Amino acid sequence: MDRMTAQEMDARDPLRRVRGRFLLPEGRVYLDGNSLGALQPSVQQAAHDVLETWRAHAIGGWNRGWVELAGRTADRLAGVLGAEPDEIAVADSTSTNLFKALVAGLELRPDRHTLLVAGDDFPTDVYVASGVAELTGAQVRTVSADVLDDAIDDDVAVVLRSHVDYRTGRRVDLAEAVGRARTVGAVTVWDLSHSVGALDLQLDEWQADLAVGCSYKYLNGGPGAPAWIYAAKRHHDQLATALRGWFGHVEPFAFSSSYVPAEGARRFENGTPPILSLAALHASLEVFEQVALSEVERKAAELTDLFIRLVDVRCRDLEVVTPRAPSARAAQVSLRHPSARGLIGALSRRGVVGDHRPPDLLRFGFAPLYVGFEDVWEAVDQLADLLDSRDWEQGDADIPAGPVP
Ligand SMILES: *Cc1c(COP(=O)(O)O)cnc(C)c1O
Repeated sequence: MDRMTAQEMDARDPLRRVRGRFLLPEGRVYLDGNSLGALQPSVQQAAHDVLETWRAHAIGGWNRGWVELAGRTADRLAGVLGAEPDEIAVADSTSTNLFKALVAGLELRPDRHTLLVAGDDFPTDVYVASGVAELTGAQVRTVSADVLDDAIDDDVAVVLRSHVDYRTGRRVDLAEAVGRARTVGAVTVWDLSHSVGALDLQLDEWQADLAVGCSYKYLNGGPGAPAWIYAAKRHHDQLATALRGWFGHVEPFAFSSSYVPAEGARRFENGTPPILSLAALHASLEVFEQVALSEVERKAAELTDLFIRLVDVRCRDLEVVTPRAPSARAAQVSLRHPSARGLIGALSRRGVVGDHRPPDLLRFGFAPLYVGFEDVWEAVDQLADLLDSRDWEQGDADIPAGPVP
């Protein structure tokens, strides 16, 4: 397949019009939106507006929309998650929200004592689970992700899972996994960091219990954007939060000394929200009101499919680690090579940005809102040429260690 065919695919792409809304790094093919999504001018403007309101009105900014901003952002996010607005709170980091969700999940099953986690999950998930267990007296049981379903027995209170594996890009069938856990009476806590904004999520329909995710990957909220947490409505009566910050109070500005939680998931708001980054996130989500998530998911499948097919033909030294069935992956493809780190560095010098996960994975994210089919073609063309020339062996001193999640 040649470059022109990829250009024709771009011309037919219904999401093509959306790409123009993003300020992509100039002269580069950006395949790292699964780590840090791209910037939109409206996001720049929103951050600038906050600074301007601060300058002009100082404390008066709180009466000019800042107090309601977390709620309005959660309202927008509800549409992206297939949830009701009062099932979502926007606050804190994913790690902190995981803590809240795990504690809440354990409190929904007080007669049980096991917290089941996949040991190969994203490190923060495993660390937070161990901290929660130590604090609550629950036992962590660690198994590998592929046998998680079979490890759920009637002592398991909470199952913590990632929807999409951050290394391999493998996606589990969320609705099916929820069904299995529910049959055994366990609560599921989902980490959706690598699917939110890339897939057509339907948390209510799939009967998820609790979920968390970050906003700086496919949601493009900016570095360190506030994360979110979901709690299904049927649990709201019994929903407990261990972090009872005043912004999660039903009436924060009554300054009451007795705690009354805010409605539904909004009780997971915690302390004073980071207005600068919250305003950026609120603006970044607007684009999702212009697209159908089914289109976004379909394009993720097509971009990753094209990448895999081209790699198969042109880069025979690379093993495709990500599942080939579109329903078993999201918008990421991982490739295995012993010199993964050197290859990613050399690719970056050629203008193609991906990342490396130790020891031997090259990771590429295909954010459907702004990555095109010609980008995919160009990336594989560079990769194939690089493998032929072996010029990654020149040394990899200038490669970033990959600090970004
Ligand atoms: C990116 C990511 C996180 C990030 O957690 P933070 O607290 O926002 O740093 C958590 N879990 C998974 C699976 C991720 O991919």
